[in-house]
Amino acid sequence: MIKILLLVLGVWLIYTLLKKYGRSVEKDEAAAPPSPVEEDMVRCEQCGVHLPRSEAILSRGEFFCCDEHRRLHHHPD
Ligand SMILES: [Zn+2]
Repeated sequence: MIKILLLVLGVWLIYTLLKKYGRSVEKDEAAAPPSPVEEDMVRCEQCGVHLPRSEAILSRGEFFCCDEHRRLHHHPD
């Protein structure tokens, strides 16, 4: 009889720990920082593609997606 009680207690303990662990994981996800989608988006003056400001190239007050488009915009030939 005592063996069954210990078994039940063991199962209950594992179940409780798993539940606790699962809840802490959910909490961690909820506390995660906002996704980078919220970052400022700018438009390439050459091809019109939108990209995060941190990845854009700023030249003479205009944004570009890559160095090649910056050169093309200022020197079309
Ligand atoms: Zn571009």
